[in-house]
Amino acid sequence: MSKHHRRLIRHCRVRPGTRVRLNQIDPVGTDLARFVLPGDAPLRARAEALLEHSRMELSIQQERLWASNTHSVLVILQGMDASGKDGTIKHVMSGVSPQGCEVHSFGVPSHEELSHNFLWRYSNRLPARGRIGLFNRSYYEEVLVVRVHPQLLATRFLPAPGKGGRVWRERFDDINAFERHLVRNGTVVLKFFLHLSRDEQRARLLKRIDTREKRWKFTSADVEERAYWDDYMSAYENMLSATSTRHAPWFIIPADDKHIARASVAATLSGTIASLPLHLPLASSVEHRRLAQLRAKLLRT
Ligand code: AMP
Ligand code: MG
Repeated sequence: MSKHHRRLIRHCRVRPGTRVRLNQIDPVGTDLARFVLPGDAPLRARAEALLEHSRMELSIQQERLWASNTHSVLVILQGMDASGKDGTIKHVMSGVSPQGCEVHSFGVPSHEELSHNFLWRYSNRLPARGRIGLFNRSYYEEVLVVRVHPQLLATRFLPAPGKGGRVWRERFDDINAFERHLVRNGTVVLKFFLHLSRDEQRARLLKRIDTREKRWKFTSADVEERAYWDDYMSAYENMLSATSTRHAPWFIIPADDKHIARASVAATLSGTIASLPLHLPLASSVEHRRLAQLRAKLLRT
């Protein structure tokens, strides 16, 4: 892992047990740009160079992951509307073989999904060994949108509806235990929060309305949810503080500048897979002899 990768990972990682205050974290990424992407070139060019380098690295690392067949990687992307989740997936994963990765986007749960425990629909979509799985939104919505709109709990068929404030603490515990289970079984869990400012969200939503090609992305819910901005930030702070663990850390990615955001996610992901103890299957001496025979046969036929 390069020096850049290490600094970037250290800079964005939420240390377990720390109390996150989002209004003290810069959504533009000026710090990150200074520390993580040094050089004289314009910032955008430096971010693009890091993205390109990380993409190539990711493609190599994905092949190691596939060949070793012991680990999988689960990438969780969370963020407000228009924080760049889709664009990040598109740009970060563009160099990876489609065979080795899968993306799942989660919207409002169906009746069937709500009839199961709250982790059910997500555990059905986890990546198998050798693969990278991306969750565009995830079970974390159950402590975000549901916490901001607690009346949604009533649609969850819970035995003790709400249980006062305890339900959130219990969900954090369940999520931490679930992720520990995944990690113990060979899944690397990386969680990215795309930290967008309220002003930049307004600019992006306006652009969605004003640009014909982007209008399909706009929904009235984007404006309605924006009214709950402070509640969302508070839910995010609670969630980031309670569920960034040593085994499954959160990374807060400044998202106002898309180039910095994409480069940061790509570098963290490729750097983490590169540091995994992956072992390519080695042939035994018997297999070596057999390979030599097959090689000779191939040359004859
Ligand atoms: P989008 O990501 O723009 O396609 O929107 C997906 C919508 O589904 C968002 O408004 C989310 O708040 C909502 N959503 C995702 N997961 C859940 C969940 N577990 N419970 C309720 N709403 C959800
Ligand atoms: Mg949306």
